[in-house]
Amino acid sequence: MYLKSLTLRGFKSFASATALHFEPGITCVVGPNGSGKSNVVDALSWVMGEQGAKSLRGGKMEDVIFAGTSGRAPLGRAEVELTIDNTDGALPIDYTEVTIKRTMFRSGGSDYQINGQNARLLDVQELLSDSGIGREMHVIVGQGQLDSILQATPEGRRGFVEEAAGVLKHRKRREKAVRKLESTEGNLHRLNDLLEEVR
Ligand code: ATP
Repeated sequence: MYLKSLTLRGFKSFASATALHFEPGITCVVGPNGSGKSNVVDALSWVMGEQGAKSLRGGKMEDVIFAGTSGRAPLGRAEVELTIDNTDGALPIDYTEVTIKRTMFRSGGSDYQINGQNARLLDVQELLSDSGIGREMHVIVGQGQLDSILQATPEGRRGFVEEAAGVLKHRKRREKAVRKLESTEGNLHRLNDLLEEVR
């Protein structure tokens, strides 16, 4: 399995359709500062279902849509298509080539397609989940991310390890469950008080 191509339309600085074709092995994307190299990496995360605007270096999700330049008007939608070679069957789908497409309109919401068929985010996540790629798989290491790990406080560093080990998700769930328990206990106390009053 390897990434075959990535096509961006209206995504960040790529107003016109731009296709990158990859071969097996290592690919380098080179260009001057600000030419859009990191935007290509953002497009990869985004098409695989990234939901966090901050992870995409923006303030809100719509920031991925081409915002216009002095010579070109803003666009109303962003579209990214990722084609993966699946001749080794690493992805659990009966196709030797899989194309995932994500579209977003300024009005909000994202549409996904897998090989031309409408799909949900969950379908994309499930398709990629056992392959080692996809969201939160730590296969995309952004610029400055290594520095932030090296400079993190012990608690921050523990957070990275927990996230990599999949513990963070359970810690968040635990915190939510504890909060729910506390509010239920509060309700019980109030109920007991009321019962005392009506006795
Ligand atoms: P560096 O080497 O400095 O890290 P880079 O090649 O990685 O640069 P990017 O960070 O990918 O560059 O691209 C930054 C450019 O993308 C900026 O010029 C920014 O204005 C532009 N850009 C980002 N989002 C949008 C958007 N929604 N619409 C238009 N342009 C955008």
